[in-house]
Amino acid sequence: MKKQIEKKYQTQLDNLITLLKNTKFLTNENVESAIRNVQRHDFVLMSDVDKAYYNEPLAIMKNQTISQPAVVSRMTEWLDVKKGQKILEVGTGSGWQTAILSYLVGDGTIFSVELHPELVEFAQNNLKKLDINNVNVILNDGSLGYPDAAPYDRIIITAACSKIPSLLFDQLNQNGLLIAPVGNSSQSLVLLKKTSQGIIEIKNESNYVFVPLLGKFGKR
Ligand code: SAH
Repeated sequence: MKKQIEKKYQTQLDNLITLLKNTKFLTNENVESAIRNVQRHDFVLMSDVDKAYYNEPLAIMKNQTISQPAVVSRMTEWLDVKKGQKILEVGTGSGWQTAILSYLVGDGTIFSVELHPELVEFAQNNLKKLDINNVNVILNDGSLGYPDAAPYDRIIITAACSKIPSLLFDQLNQNGLLIAPVGNSSQSLVLLKKTSQGIIEIKNESNYVFVPLLGKFGKR
Protein backbone atom coordinates (compact mmCIF):
# COMPACT_ATOMS: atom_id res chain seq x y z
CA MET A 1 0.00 0.00 0.00
CA LYS A 2 2.94 2.33 0.60
CA LYS A 3 3.13 4.96 -2.08
CA GLN A 4 5.77 7.65 -2.28
CA ILE A 5 4.05 10.88 -1.26
CA GLU A 6 4.38 13.70 -3.75
CA LYS A 7 6.77 16.39 -2.54
CA LYS A 8 4.17 19.15 -2.64
CA TYR A 9 2.07 17.30 -0.04
CA GLN A 10 4.90 16.14 2.22
CA THR A 11 5.32 19.42 4.13
CA GLN A 12 1.57 19.85 4.50
CA LEU A 13 1.28 16.30 5.87
CA ASP A 14 4.20 16.86 8.26
CA ASN A 15 2.57 20.06 9.52
CA LEU A 16 -0.75 18.30 10.03
CA ILE A 17 0.95 15.50 11.99
CA THR A 18 2.72 18.07 14.19
CA LEU A 19 -0.58 19.85 14.84
CA LEU A 20 -2.36 16.59 15.72
CA LYS A 21 0.46 15.63 18.09
CA ASN A 22 0.63 19.06 19.76
CA THR A 23 -3.12 19.01 20.35
CA LYS A 24 -2.89 15.40 21.65
CA PHE A 25 -5.26 14.05 19.02
CA LEU A 26 -2.41 11.85 17.80
CA THR A 27 -0.36 9.93 20.36
CA ASN A 28 0.05 6.46 18.87
CA GLU A 29 2.87 5.53 16.48
CA ASN A 30 0.84 2.99 14.52
CA VAL A 31 -1.95 5.48 13.93
CA GLU A 32 0.63 8.07 12.86
CA SER A 33 2.05 5.63 10.37
CA ALA A 34 -1.48 4.86 9.07
CA ILE A 35 -2.22 8.57 8.59
CA ARG A 36 1.11 9.02 6.82
CA ASN A 37 0.51 6.05 4.51
CA VAL A 38 -3.14 6.61 3.65
CA GLN A 39 -2.77 9.92 1.94
CA ARG A 40 -5.83 12.08 2.44
CA HIS A 41 -5.49 13.84 -0.91
CA ASP A 42 -6.53 10.54 -2.55
CA PHE A 43 -9.90 10.76 -0.74
CA VAL A 44 -11.10 14.34 -1.34
CA LEU A 45 -12.80 15.89 -4.35
CA MET A 46 -10.44 17.07 -7.10
CA SER A 47 -11.43 20.67 -6.36
CA ASP A 48 -10.22 20.29 -2.75
CA VAL A 49 -6.85 18.56 -3.13
CA ASP A 50 -5.04 21.67 -1.97
CA LYS A 51 -7.02 21.57 1.27
CA ALA A 52 -6.53 17.83 1.88
CA TYR A 53 -4.08 18.37 4.77
CA TYR A 54 -6.08 21.09 6.52
CA ASN A 55 -7.39 19.88 9.86
CA GLU A 56 -10.95 20.30 8.61
CA PRO A 57 -13.82 18.21 7.34
CA LEU A 58 -14.37 18.78 3.61
CA ALA A 59 -17.53 18.41 1.55
CA ILE A 60 -17.85 15.30 -0.63
CA MET A 61 -21.03 14.21 -2.45
CA LYS A 62 -24.63 13.95 -1.19
CA ASN A 63 -24.10 16.67 1.46
CA GLN A 64 -21.65 14.43 3.31
CA THR A 65 -18.10 15.15 4.47
CA ILE A 66 -14.73 13.49 4.75
CA SER A 67 -14.10 13.66 8.50
CA GLN A 68 -11.65 16.04 10.15
CA PRO A 69 -8.18 14.48 10.59
CA ALA A 70 -8.17 15.13 14.37
CA VAL A 71 -11.45 13.26 14.72
CA VAL A 72 -10.33 10.31 12.59
CA SER A 73 -7.13 10.12 14.62
CA ARG A 74 -8.97 10.23 17.97
CA MET A 75 -11.54 7.61 16.94
CA THR A 76 -8.89 5.31 15.49
CA GLU A 77 -6.75 5.55 18.62
CA TRP A 78 -9.67 4.88 20.96
CA LEU A 79 -10.76 1.90 18.87
CA ASP A 80 -7.41 0.20 19.67
CA VAL A 81 -7.28 -1.76 16.43
CA LYS A 82 -5.14 -4.91 16.36
CA LYS A 83 -3.74 -6.88 13.43
CA GLY A 84 -6.03 -9.61 12.15
CA GLN A 85 -9.26 -8.10 13.48
CA LYS A 86 -12.60 -7.95 11.70
CA ILE A 87 -14.14 -4.50 11.81
CA LEU A 88 -17.54 -3.09 10.88
CA GLU A 89 -17.68 0.55 9.81
CA VAL A 90 -21.06 2.26 9.45
CA GLY A 91 -20.76 5.23 7.04
CA THR A 92 -17.96 4.80 4.47
CA GLY A 93 -18.08 8.33 3.06
CA SER A 94 -14.84 8.92 1.16
CA GLY A 95 -13.24 5.69 2.44
CA TRP A 96 -10.39 7.52 4.20
CA GLN A 97 -11.17 6.21 7.69
CA THR A 98 -11.82 2.81 6.07
CA ALA A 99 -8.36 2.77 4.50
CA ILE A 100 -6.74 3.74 7.81
CA LEU A 101 -8.47 0.81 9.52
CA SER A 102 -7.46 -1.45 6.63
CA TYR A 103 -3.82 -0.47 7.13
CA LEU A 104 -3.98 -1.19 10.86
CA VAL A 105 -5.67 -4.62 10.68
CA GLY A 106 -3.08 -5.97 8.24
CA ASP A 107 -4.46 -9.33 7.20
CA GLY A 108 -7.74 -8.62 9.01
CA THR A 109 -10.88 -7.44 7.22
CA ILE A 110 -13.04 -4.33 7.09
CA PHE A 111 -16.75 -4.39 6.22
CA SER A 112 -17.91 -0.84 5.56
CA VAL A 113 -21.58 -0.04 4.94
CA GLU A 114 -22.68 3.11 3.11
CA LEU A 115 -26.19 4.29 2.32
CA HIS A 116 -25.51 6.40 -0.82
CA PRO A 117 -24.59 4.57 -4.06
CA GLU A 118 -22.56 7.61 -5.26
CA LEU A 119 -20.39 7.40 -2.14
CA VAL A 120 -19.95 3.64 -2.41
CA GLU A 121 -18.57 4.25 -5.89
CA PHE A 122 -16.45 7.23 -4.76
CA ALA A 123 -14.95 5.24 -1.86
CA GLN A 124 -14.31 2.17 -4.00
CA ASN A 125 -12.50 4.29 -6.58
CA ASN A 126 -10.45 5.99 -3.87
CA LEU A 127 -9.54 2.67 -2.27
CA LYS A 128 -8.51 1.28 -5.68
CA LYS A 129 -5.79 3.96 -5.91
CA LEU A 130 -4.06 2.15 -3.03
CA ASP A 131 -3.48 -1.60 -3.18
CA ILE A 132 -6.21 -2.37 -0.68
CA ASN A 133 -7.75 -5.84 -0.82
CA ASN A 134 -9.08 -6.35 2.69
CA VAL A 135 -12.06 -3.97 2.48
CA ASN A 136 -15.62 -4.76 1.47
CA VAL A 137 -17.75 -1.67 0.82
CA ILE A 138 -21.43 -2.58 1.02
CA LEU A 139 -24.35 -0.50 -0.24
CA ASN A 140 -26.94 -0.78 2.51
CA ASP A 141 -28.51 0.80 5.56
CA GLY A 142 -25.76 0.52 8.15
CA SER A 143 -28.14 1.34 11.00
CA LEU A 144 -28.94 -2.37 10.65
CA GLY A 145 -25.24 -3.23 10.90
CA TYR A 146 -24.09 -6.01 8.59
CA PRO A 147 -25.20 -9.30 10.14
CA ASP A 148 -23.82 -11.41 7.24
CA ALA A 149 -20.23 -11.07 8.48
CA ALA A 150 -20.90 -10.67 12.24
CA PRO A 151 -19.59 -10.86 14.92
CA TYR A 152 -17.00 -8.07 14.74
CA ASP A 153 -14.05 -7.30 17.01
CA ARG A 154 -14.63 -3.59 16.55
CA ILE A 155 -17.52 -1.42 15.32
CA ILE A 156 -17.13 2.22 14.32
CA ILE A 157 -20.08 4.47 13.49
CA THR A 158 -18.98 7.61 11.64
CA ALA A 159 -22.34 9.46 11.71
CA ALA A 160 -24.22 10.99 14.65
CA CYS A 161 -26.66 8.66 16.43
CA SER A 162 -29.34 9.97 18.77
CA LYS A 163 -29.22 6.43 20.15
CA ILE A 164 -26.85 3.63 19.12
CA PRO A 165 -28.94 1.02 17.23
CA SER A 166 -29.15 -1.86 19.73
CA LEU A 167 -28.72 -4.59 17.12
CA LEU A 168 -25.17 -3.36 16.55
CA PHE A 169 -24.31 -4.67 20.02
CA ASP A 170 -25.61 -8.09 18.95
CA GLN A 171 -23.05 -8.01 16.11
CA LEU A 172 -20.14 -7.23 18.45
CA ASN A 173 -17.85 -9.92 19.89
CA GLN A 174 -17.50 -10.43 23.64
CA ASN A 175 -14.81 -7.93 24.79
CA GLY A 176 -15.30 -6.05 21.50
CA LEU A 177 -15.25 -2.25 21.33
CA LEU A 178 -17.75 0.08 19.67
CA ILE A 179 -17.20 3.78 19.06
CA ALA A 180 -19.86 6.27 17.99
CA PRO A 181 -20.79 9.96 18.18
CA VAL A 182 -23.98 10.11 20.25
CA GLY A 183 -26.28 13.11 20.48
CA ASN A 184 -28.38 15.46 18.38
CA SER A 185 -27.06 18.95 17.56
CA SER A 186 -23.72 18.23 19.26
CA GLN A 187 -22.40 14.78 20.04
CA SER A 188 -20.23 13.01 22.54
CA LEU A 189 -17.73 10.53 21.26
CA VAL A 190 -18.45 7.37 23.20
CA LEU A 191 -16.31 4.23 23.45
CA LEU A 192 -18.18 1.17 24.72
CA LYS A 193 -17.11 -2.37 25.54
CA LYS A 194 -19.22 -5.52 25.46
CA THR A 195 -18.48 -7.54 28.60
CA SER A 196 -20.07 -10.53 30.34
CA GLN A 197 -21.67 -7.95 32.66
CA GLY A 198 -23.17 -6.05 29.73
CA ILE A 199 -22.16 -2.91 27.82
CA ILE A 200 -19.82 -0.60 29.73
CA GLU A 201 -18.59 2.88 28.86
CA ILE A 202 -14.81 3.19 28.58
CA LYS A 203 -14.45 6.76 27.32
CA ASN A 204 -16.63 9.77 26.61
CA GLU A 205 -15.69 13.18 25.23
CA SER A 206 -18.18 15.91 24.35
CA ASN A 207 -18.35 18.63 21.69
CA TYR A 208 -18.18 16.80 18.37
CA VAL A 209 -20.31 17.47 15.31
CA PHE A 210 -21.00 14.73 12.75
CA VAL A 211 -23.50 14.38 9.93
CA PRO A 212 -26.54 12.40 11.12
CA LEU A 213 -26.93 8.64 10.86
CA LEU A 214 -29.88 8.04 8.53
CA GLY A 215 -31.77 4.83 7.83
CA LYS A 216 -34.22 2.68 9.77
CA PHE A 217 -32.59 3.12 13.19
CA GLY A 218 -31.08 6.52 12.44
CA LYS A 219 -32.56 10.01 12.46
CA ARG A 220 -36.28 10.02 11.73
N1 SAH B 1 -15.42 8.80 7.91
C1 SAH B 1 -15.89 9.20 6.60
C2 SAH B 1 -17.00 10.22 6.67
C3 SAH B 1 -18.23 9.71 7.11
S1 SAH B 1 -19.55 10.90 7.00
C4 SAH B 1 -14.77 9.89 5.84
O1 SAH B 1 -13.80 10.31 6.47
O2 SAH B 1 -14.90 10.07 4.64
C5 SAH B 1 -20.83 9.78 7.42
C6 SAH B 1 -21.22 8.83 6.34
O3 SAH B 1 -22.25 8.02 6.85
C7 SAH B 1 -21.78 9.50 5.09
O4 SAH B 1 -21.11 9.02 3.96
C8 SAH B 1 -23.24 9.05 5.06
O5 SAH B 1 -23.75 8.88 3.76
C9 SAH B 1 -23.16 7.75 5.80
N2 SAH B 1 -24.41 7.28 6.40
C10 SAH B 1 -25.35 7.99 7.06
N3 SAH B 1 -26.33 7.18 7.49
C11 SAH B 1 -25.99 5.93 7.09
C12 SAH B 1 -26.62 4.65 7.23
N4 SAH B 1 -27.76 4.47 7.87
N5 SAH B 1 -25.99 3.59 6.68
C13 SAH B 1 -24.81 3.72 6.03
N6 SAH B 1 -24.19 4.90 5.87
C14 SAH B 1 -24.77 5.99 6.40
